[in-house]
Amino acid sequence: MTREDGEGAGRGDGRGDGQGDGGADAADVPAADSAGGSTDGSAGGSVVGPAGVPVDGSAGASADDRAADPADDSAAGSAEGSPADFTAEEVARARALRRAAVPVALGGRAASPALLLALGLTHGGAWLVGAFGNGWAVRVVGAAVTLAVLPLLLGLPFAARGRVVRARFGLVTQGWAGWAADQARGLAISLPLLTGALFGVYALAGTTRRWWAWAALGAAAVTVVLSFLAPLVFEPVFNRFTPMAPGPPRDALLALAARDGVAVRDVLVADASRRTTALNAYVSGFGRTRRIVVYDTLLTTAEPREVELVVAHELGHVVHRDVPRGTALGALGSAAGVCVLAALVTWQPLLDLAGVPRFADPRSAWLLAAAAALGGAVAGPFGAALSRRVETRADRHALALTSAPASFIAMQRRLTLANVAEPDPPRLLHLLWGTHPTPAARIALARAWPTKP
Ligand SMILES: [Zn+2]
Repeated sequence: MTREDGEGAGRGDGRGDGQGDGGADAADVPAADSAGGSTDGSAGGSVVGPAGVPVDGSAGASADDRAADPADDSAAGSAEGSPADFTAEEVARARALRRAAVPVALGGRAASPALLLALGLTHGGAWLVGAFGNGWAVRVVGAAVTLAVLPLLLGLPFAARGRVVRARFGLVTQGWAGWAADQARGLAISLPLLTGALFGVYALAGTTRRWWAWAALGAAAVTVVLSFLAPLVFEPVFNRFTPMAPGPPRDALLALAARDGVAVRDVLVADASRRTTALNAYVSGFGRTRRIVVYDTLLTTAEPREVELVVAHELGHVVHRDVPRGTALGALGSAAGVCVLAALVTWQPLLDLAGVPRFADPRSAWLLAAAAALGGAVAGPFGAALSRRVETRADRHALALTSAPASFIAMQRRLTLANVAEPDPPRLLHLLWGTHPTPAARIALARAWPTKP
C-alpha cells in the first residue's frame, strides 16, 4: 500500500498496493488494496480505475524468460511452500499468461515515458502547446489537454491488447463498451486534476523565484486531500457499492473488526464482477467513514472463513495505520520530488533542448512531464519494496488475529489461481514491480505459523 503520486505527469500509474500495477489509470487510490494473491493485486486500482494492462503482478512485469527459472528463487525464503501447493499445470498456465502479458505490459509502460521524453526533450512539446495560441491561460490548458490525452491514446492499444490476453485466460468479464467508458471516466478525473496542477505551478512560476517551495507544499497538500477524497469521490465513479446482506457472514466480519479494535461503519459489496474475475477486498475511509469493502467475486467464490482471512489482512493495514502513514510518506515524497523536478526543469541546457527560454513559459510543460516520468520510474521499485514489507506485516496480522493458517493457505491458493498468478514469479520482476510478497512466500509464512496447542 504505498502509492505514488502522479505529480506533474498527471497519471499516477497505479502502483501502490495493488494496486500494483493496475496500469494506466487516473489517480491511484490509496485505500484500494489487494489482499491479492499475486505479486500484486490484481487490483491495481481496479476498484477504482479501469484495470489497466496486466492484472496480476507477475504479469506486470517483465524481463526476459531467462529470469524465469524458478530455481533461482530459492533465496526468497519462499521455496518451501510452492511446489506441493500448485500443480504443474496450474503453474504452467500462470507462466503462459505472464509470457503473453509481459511484453505487452512492458510496451505499455515504456510507451508513455518514451512519448514524454521524445516531445519533452525536443522542441516538439513546446510546439504542440504553442499551437494552442499565445495566451498564457490557453497554453496551460493546451499543455494539460495534450499531456492528459496523448499518452493515454498511445497507451490504449497496449491496454486493449493486454485485455485481450487476459480475456483468453478468463480474467475479463467486462465488454469493450464498458472498458471504453472506464477509460473516459479516468480521463474525466485526470484532466481536471492535471489542469489545476499546471495552473497552480505556472501561476507560481510566473510570480516568484521560490515557486518550487510553494509547489512542493501544494503537492504535499494535494496528496493528503486526494487520499481522503478518493474513497468517497472516485471509487463510486467506477463501482457500485451495496451494503452486505445481514446474516452470519456479515456478522462474522463485523465481529472480526470489533475483536481487532477497529471501528467499522459498514460492510459493503463492490460489483467488481462486471469487470473482472479477480478477488479482492479492502478497507477504506477514515474514522467515521471507514468501511470494509468486499468484491462480490470474493463472496461468491470463497469460503466464508477465507473471506475472513482477507478481511483480517485488510484490518492489519488499518491497525498499523498503513494508509495515513503511506499518505504522509507520499506527501513527503511528492514534495521532495517537486524540488528535484524544479532543479531539473530550470536547468538551462534542458530548457534549450525543449526550445523554451524559461520554465515559467507553459510550453515547458512537456519537459516537466518528462522529468516527472523519469522520477516516477526511478521511485517505483523503492515503493514496491516498501509495499512488500507492509503487506507482509498485514499477513502476519491476519494470521495472529485469526489463528487460522490453514484457511490462510487455502485463501492464498484461491487468490493465486483466480488471478492466474505465478506462485513464484521471476525474481527480477518481483523485485522491480511486486507490491506483495509472492504467493509462495505468503504460503510459507502461514505454514511456519505456530498453531496453538
Ligand atoms: Zn494488503
